[in-house]
Amino acid sequence: MNRSLYLFALTLTLALSSQAGNFSGADAFSFTRQAVALGPRPDGSPAIARLRALIKDQLAKRGCEVISDPFTAQTPDGPLAMENIIAKFPGRSGRAVAITGHYDTKKMAGFVGANDGGSSTGMLLELAAALQGRPRVDDVYLVFFDGEEAIHDWTDTDSIYGSRHLAARWSADGTNRRLKGLINVDMTGDKNLRLVWDENSTPSLRKTVWDVADSLGYTSSFPRHGGGIEDDHMPFIKAGVRSVDMIDFDSQSTFWHTPQDTMDKLDPHSFDIVGSVVLKSVDELEQQK
Ligand SMILES: [Zn+2]
Repeated sequence: MNRSLYLFALTLTLALSSQAGNFSGADAFSFTRQAVALGPRPDGSPAIARLRALIKDQLAKRGCEVISDPFTAQTPDGPLAMENIIAKFPGRSGRAVAITGHYDTKKMAGFVGANDGGSSTGMLLELAAALQGRPRVDDVYLVFFDGEEAIHDWTDTDSIYGSRHLAARWSADGTNRRLKGLINVDMTGDKNLRLVWDENSTPSLRKTVWDVADSLGYTSSFPRHGGGIEDDHMPFIKAGVRSVDMIDFDSQSTFWHTPQDTMDKLDPHSFDIVGSVVLKSVDELEQQK
């Protein structure tokens, strides 16, 4: 290849890899609607089994490796079958990046979890579409966690079953050591999007993501204050993986754990914001050593 052709190809490759333009907030919103239409999706329900099938059907179209990670969770109500679903888009560096979220919903009467459980599912399904057919530097994993919600009240042993299971599995098989970073999304579909500057997240990775948001003009949705959040990133933080949580925890806009957490509270534009920030952050991580 001659030099100008090489430069042209390099520019094209960089343009393609840094362009998050094919992420559709409208499609992410639509995937969320499909999940929510199944009704409440707590562990043990027929609806969550149908959602697992829907997730796998969608991922099968995306040219990625689909990995099932079934396990038995020890819950206050006894053993419960759960399953993380992982999509792997292979790179060539030997390193990896993970984007994660949960697909189960809190077991409560009349609770369909449009934002809480639904939006993360829709985000990840559309991220799979956006990653499809694009050569990666690092392996990119999309992880659909099961069992984020407590069966009863949130404690260290009754919560985040899926992420605790996978963090242990990935520590044992060496995947955690290959991870440059893990980005978790949770409740990021609401209209008045304002994420928490989570104090439990790895400061350098949190800065990378928040700087990307600033560069894309989303500063108002990414304030730099807030408390500490316990979420699916924590088992990976404890395992030494750089991790950040992207979560809107303002109950006034998220209708957290109420029957009002429904599709009409969500906005496709919020999906666009978070999807483009996540994809550009992955690009930045891939450029890091
Ligand atoms: Zn929840």
